[in-house]
Amino acid sequence: MGSGCKHNKGDRKEFLRQQVLPDRCRHFINGRYVDSADGEAFKKVLPAYNESWFEVATGGASEVDAAVTAAEKAAAGPWSRTSPQDRARILRRVGDLIEANVETLALAESLDSGKPYSETLNGDIPRSAKNFHFFADLAAHQSFETWTGEDGSQHTSIREPLGVTGLITPWNLPLYLATWKLAPALAQGNTVILKPAELTPLTATLLCELLGEAGIPEGVVNVVHGFGAKSAGEALVRHPGVKAISFTGETTTGSAIMRDAADGLKKLSFELGGKGASVIFDDADLDLAVPTACRAAFRNQGQICLAGSRLIVHEKIATQVIDRLLENVKKIKIGDPLDDTTTMGALIANDHRDKIAGFVEYARGERVGEILCGGKIPAGLPAHLTNGAFYEPTVIADVPQDSRLIQEEIFGPVLTVQTFKTLEEAIALTSGVPYGLSCSVYTRDGARAQKFARSVRMGMVWINGWFIRDLHTAFGGMKRSGIGREGGRWSLDFFSEYKTITVAGV
Ligand code: ADP
Repeated sequence: MGSGCKHNKGDRKEFLRQQVLPDRCRHFINGRYVDSADGEAFKKVLPAYNESWFEVATGGASEVDAAVTAAEKAAAGPWSRTSPQDRARILRRVGDLIEANVETLALAESLDSGKPYSETLNGDIPRSAKNFHFFADLAAHQSFETWTGEDGSQHTSIREPLGVTGLITPWNLPLYLATWKLAPALAQGNTVILKPAELTPLTATLLCELLGEAGIPEGVVNVVHGFGAKSAGEALVRHPGVKAISFTGETTTGSAIMRDAADGLKKLSFELGGKGASVIFDDADLDLAVPTACRAAFRNQGQICLAGSRLIVHEKIATQVIDRLLENVKKIKIGDPLDDTTTMGALIANDHRDKIAGFVEYARGERVGEILCGGKIPAGLPAHLTNGAFYEPTVIADVPQDSRLIQEEIFGPVLTVQTFKTLEEAIALTSGVPYGLSCSVYTRDGARAQKFARSVRMGMVWINGWFIRDLHTAFGGMKRSGIGREGGRWSLDFFSEYKTITVAGV
C-alpha cells in the first residue's frame, strides 16, 4: 500500500487512482485476492462525484462457501491455539500498520463514502488502529476465576473460540466498524468472514494487504464482497459453517438476518438503528451544549446511529438555543470531501439523499413543523460536485412527537426541534420512539442529570457531551436498536464460547 497521499491539483483523478484505488475490489479468500467464480462485478459509485472509478467483485453462495472452507481450515490450524499474548502481538502489528498507512486509508474511505478527509484522517482510521490495539491488550489480559466447592472440587469457566464467525458491516463507518468486530473476533482466536457494505468495499480490501505483513495466517481473515439479501450477506448468514453473526446496520435487516439464522441457531449480536436526542435543560452551559448538539446532528452528514437527530430543549431557552444553533449550522461548509476546509461531505448515495429529501418534502407538504434552514440540495457547488449526493443541513422546529420525522430514523442531516417544560416531559419525549440507542443531556444539576440518565430507555447516555467513548464499556441499544452489547468484555464474551472444567476434590 503506497502511503503519503497528499493529493495534487493536476490530474487529480488519475493521481488518486494510482494512490489508493484498485481497478477492482476483489474478494480476499485464503490469503489471496480473487474474482468471483462467474466473473461478475458491479460498478462502485463515488458519492461526491457520482462517478464510478472502479468495480467490485459480486460474491454469492460459492464465494462464501470458499471463504468458509478457508476459515474452517484456518480455525483447525495454529491460530486458535496460539497464546493470547502471541495473538495480541500480531494484532498490535495490524494496528501499527493501519497507523502507518493512515493517509492512504483515510483517502480511500473519503472517496468511497463521501465523508470529509479531515474526519477519516483524524477520526475513523486512527480509531480503526485503536480497535486492534485495544482488543489485543484486553484479550491478552483475560483471567478466569476458579471456585472451590465444599468437597474441595475446583470449578473454572474458561473461554474458547467459536470457530468461523461472520461479520456484516454498514457503509457509514466502514473500516471503523469492520475493525470493531474483527479485532475482538481475532483476539479470541476465531477465524472470520467479513462482508463489507456494497457501498463501501474499499478500505476492507486495502486492510487485507496488511494482514500477512502483520503475521495473520492465510484463511484467518476472509473478505467476501456483494450485496445483502439473496447475495453474499444472506449466504453468509445461512451457511452452516458460520457459528455467529455480528451485524451492524438497519433494524429491518436485523430481522431478516435473525430469520435466516434461525435454522442454524446462530449466536447473534445486533447494533441497529437509532433515534438519538440532545436534551438541553434551562441551566445548561450553552457554549458547550449548542455546538455539541450541532455536531451530534450533522457529523458524518447525520449518518451515525448515535446521531442526536432530535433536539429537545427547555421552552424557557428555546428561542436562544435555536438562534445559536442556526449560527452554528451556518458555519458548516459543504464541499469536496478531499478539501481540508470541508466540514460536511456527500451522503452515501443519491438514492439515500432522495430518501432524506422525501422526509423533508413530507414535512413541507403536510405542514409538519417549520423548516428553519436547509431542506434542499445545495446550490453553487463546484462543477465536479453538481451530480454528487449533497444535501443541506436542515433544522425543522415544532415537530409533534407522533410525526414520522420523530418516530422514524432519517439517517441524514435533518434535525428536529421540540420543547419541554418538566424533567418528566423531557424523559417521555426522549424515550417515546421505537429506538433506544443513545442520547445526551445538558444540565449543571448533577442530580437531575442522574435522574434523567437512569430513567430514559436508551443504551447509552452522555451527560454534558456526545460520542465520548471508552472501549471498555458496553456499546449497544434497547428496543429496536439492537440485541446484545459489544465493547470490552462484552465483545470478548460474544466472540467466545464458555466451557466449565471441574476438577473433583481430593
Ligand atoms: P445500511 O443501510 O446502514 O447499509 P443495511 O442493513 O442495508 O444498512 O446494510 C448493512 C449490511 O448488511 C450491508 O453489508 C448489507 O449488504 C448487509 N445486508 C443487507 N441485507 C442483508 C440480508 N438480508 N442478509 C445479510 N446481510 C444483509
